[in-house]
Amino acid sequence: MSERDFDLVVLGAGSGGIAMAIRAACHGARVVVLEPGVLGGTCVNVGCVPKKAMWLAAELAEAQQVAREVGFDLTPGALDWEAFVTRRSSYIANIHVSYRRRLAELGITLFHERGHFLAANRIAAGKHELNAAHVMIATGARPQRLAIPGADLGIDSDGFFALRECPRRVAVVGSGYIAVELAGVLRALGAEVTLFARGERLLRSFDRELGGALADAMRARAIELVFACNPLAASKEADGYALHFASGDAAKGFDALVWAIGRIPNTEDLGLGSAGVALDAQGFIVTDEWQNTTAPNVYSVGDVTGRLALTPVAIAASRRLADRVFGAVADAKLDYANIATVVFSHPPIGTVGLSEEAARELHGDAVKVYRSSFRPMLAALAQREEKTLMKLVCVGSDERIVGIHILGAAADEILQGFTVALKMGARKADLDATVAIHPTSAEELVLM
Ligand code: NDP
Repeated sequence: MSERDFDLVVLGAGSGGIAMAIRAACHGARVVVLEPGVLGGTCVNVGCVPKKAMWLAAELAEAQQVAREVGFDLTPGALDWEAFVTRRSSYIANIHVSYRRRLAELGITLFHERGHFLAANRIAAGKHELNAAHVMIATGARPQRLAIPGADLGIDSDGFFALRECPRRVAVVGSGYIAVELAGVLRALGAEVTLFARGERLLRSFDRELGGALADAMRARAIELVFACNPLAASKEADGYALHFASGDAAKGFDALVWAIGRIPNTEDLGLGSAGVALDAQGFIVTDEWQNTTAPNVYSVGDVTGRLALTPVAIAASRRLADRVFGAVADAKLDYANIATVVFSHPPIGTVGLSEEAARELHGDAVKVYRSSFRPMLAALAQREEKTLMKLVCVGSDERIVGIHILGAAADEILQGFTVALKMGARKADLDATVAIHPTSAEELVLM
């Protein structure tokens, strides 16, 4: 058993852990990162990066359809899924190489071990025992499954990324980010898809109109949406997998079942009790606004904390934490308000700030909503009914913008700049004073 002293031990080399390690090392800290798996965590390996690759492929598949509709003489071809996965994997392998190089350049020690607290400042990792002035827990989360008979017959998002061909008939269970994203990708790449939601709408935590508009867009792509259903069991039958519902109905004949019903934090086997790190009722690590856990000099960021499970959030929180702890920036902490997020559905959704419902709850009659629903030029040329939806949620007599919601092509790219405006406190009049870029979809946001 070797014993070593570090200024910082980081548990988990995902987006948050790596960001923390790098920034702390830049401030001169002696850092060790413990990661039993591959570098990059969920985002790089089984999340944002491979998902975006599949979404880009799906966009190309849709673009071929549209091209034909506007007059190109072509027959849309199927994706060589396996060959595309090879490309995707080599893109990801390059990220691993660059992470490894960066850690080495900064003299950061990397142990491919799972860490386990012996005390708040003492961590066991394989044959090492580490004394740490500071510890950060960034162990992430993993997909959960329904606790029903036959749940093992399905796959989750990790299993989706392990696919080597497109399944023909797919059932997706869930109605959040992952459910709508995977349903859209699978449909665009050729699967027949049915999405089963326990509630009455998609993307329940988003502005209500976005969920409705997305449901229309998904149905227009021949994705079947089934609401208000609770699977009680899954089974394998002669004609494929089946889902059995509380209503007594069953849906049958699927080649794949995909569970997309949320994620659970990776907190087991960390010895958190020995460190005095408390968990909340859902099992996430309790943190305050400074990313402090309930144990002294033990911090946590990212999906394991249950706060906005988004890569850029984990990175931003980590960098500020490193600046505070090792860079003497006493007030550095992440402002969790008005963080933009994109759902890579088809078409994509971009949203920042308050939904109309949340704004009305907070500000009552002081809320004014501007909305625009229009057929984007390419959809019109292709004689598709597809609509883009844009909403500005404003508050007060000066119409401060508190929410921006977009569903439509390029929403993912449009939103970033408008988020800066919202963060800066833009008023509706500021958008009115901005001359449009014509002809674009984005111009609608300054023309409402
Ligand atoms: P979400 O929280 O987005 O959605 C979970 C879904 O599971 C909801 O539709 C929920 O339904 C449903 N659900 C939960 N429990 C059950 C149950 N027992 N039976 C049936 N349905 C159930 O989680 P995801 O797993 O999709 O994604 C996890 C997180 O990862 C996201 O919240 C997001 O932060 C992040 N993410 C971000 C992406 C991006 O930035 N583009 C992409 C993918 C993930 P209900 O609405 O009724 O509660």
